[in-house]
Amino acid sequence: MNYFPVFFDLAEQKVLIVGGGEVALRKLALLERTGAKVLLVAPELLPELGERAAAGKISVAMREFVPDDLDGARLVIVATSRRAVNRWIATLCETRGIPVNVVDDREASRFIVPAIIDRDPVLVAISTAGTSPVLARRLRERLEALIPKRIGELALWLRALRHTARRRLRDTDARRRFFENLVDGPAARRFVEGDAHGAQRLAQQLLASASSGPRPAGSVTLVGAGPGDPELLTLKALRALQDADVILHDRLVSPAVLDMARRDARRICVGKAAGSIGSTQAEINALLIEHALAGQRVVRLKGGDPFIFGRGGEELEALRQAQINFSVIPGITAAAGCAAYAGIPLTHRDHAHSVTFVAGHGDVDGREPDWRALAKPGITAVFYMGLARVEHIASRLVQHGAPESLPAALIAQGTLENQRVLSGTLATIALAAARARLESPALLVVGEVVSLHDSLAWFHSAPQLAVSQSA
Ligand code: SAH
Repeated sequence: MNYFPVFFDLAEQKVLIVGGGEVALRKLALLERTGAKVLLVAPELLPELGERAAAGKISVAMREFVPDDLDGARLVIVATSRRAVNRWIATLCETRGIPVNVVDDREASRFIVPAIIDRDPVLVAISTAGTSPVLARRLRERLEALIPKRIGELALWLRALRHTARRRLRDTDARRRFFENLVDGPAARRFVEGDAHGAQRLAQQLLASASSGPRPAGSVTLVGAGPGDPELLTLKALRALQDADVILHDRLVSPAVLDMARRDARRICVGKAAGSIGSTQAEINALLIEHALAGQRVVRLKGGDPFIFGRGGEELEALRQAQINFSVIPGITAAAGCAAYAGIPLTHRDHAHSVTFVAGHGDVDGREPDWRALAKPGITAVFYMGLARVEHIASRLVQHGAPESLPAALIAQGTLENQRVLSGTLATIALAAARARLESPALLVVGEVVSLHDSLAWFHSAPQLAVSQSA
């Protein structure tokens, strides 16, 4: 991120505008509404600016800028038509540590001004860091359509309710929940539709039930985060993330997914990456129980699907014993996500009529998978957690009857920007993997279906050129 987003309280603060044209007028129109004390310096003025000065709304000095104009200024906007003058003033501001914006000169500016949606007191600001004003405008148009016209009034109403809520609901969690119910439910909807009375009645009811009811019991939602691409989250997973008080997540969960969670939710990494030291399962269970007993909405976020090599079952058993409410939101498991993004259909009428998900690192007790079954023709085998043992897996399959020429692929960082797919055969895949230095997490897919990858790859692969008829 190149810029730090802030909203600046300028009430009664001196703001200097250098320039007397259209641009200065536009900036002034915004600044006036903040209650800033504007000094405008320019040898010539648009008539509208002169009128504002005459009405006493701003101070104007009709002359060239002098460095003393900066004295006491909290913010400076430079908008003369002379680039060299603009830059000189910007340098002076820099030396004095005063934030400066030079209109249409991002390099010389210490801050830039966003595109905004103004529904006072709600203000939405959009920045593309100056890369594309058109994009910023389009985004603003889309958001304009999404945000209710009366959102500003809604905000004021909610502020008015804060006082009552603080008196009636002592507990901060209870208050937050009350406001969430208000904002997410029919009360806010009625309000923005113009039925302020109806909304007020609903708010009173909510408040009454929140202040009389017992403290709500905590709960745990086991959520599948999918393989990495945050857009592969389900709608339910997204809602759970946005409602959560605490999120306990694996290391496998991508940062982009965690970014979708409520800003002030507590995030605890209970990192269980293969081969690394992290919390033990017993510690994780204890943490889940502890937070739920404290009345919090806990999300246990796991890569892929919680019930596929995710130990979700064990965690639920612990919760059941502790008599804690739970629910499960499935996720797209790595096999489904990676296969889709690699263009490898896991089943296919001509190639495979079944698919098996296998733990590639072997059982804790050293038990091996049923190699004979996996080596049979007409099936697809997907090995999770098998990157370190590709050679072992390939040779066992061959020993149990699979042809050396059977196609096999490794998909690393599947569905993410840096996804890599390596395809070969049982004879070649281990060496290819070692050479390519693939990194975890990676999946090994074995079966005839892998041969389709060459023609069906679509994610991050060069577009296919149509072969010209005449060639
Ligand atoms: N519950 C998860 C699996 C956890 S086991 C699920 O349903 O997907 C962890 C293994 O999943 C990793 O060792 C790797 O084999 C696989 N995996 C998870 N995410 C992956 C990704 N983005 N790309 C490739 N493999 C992945």
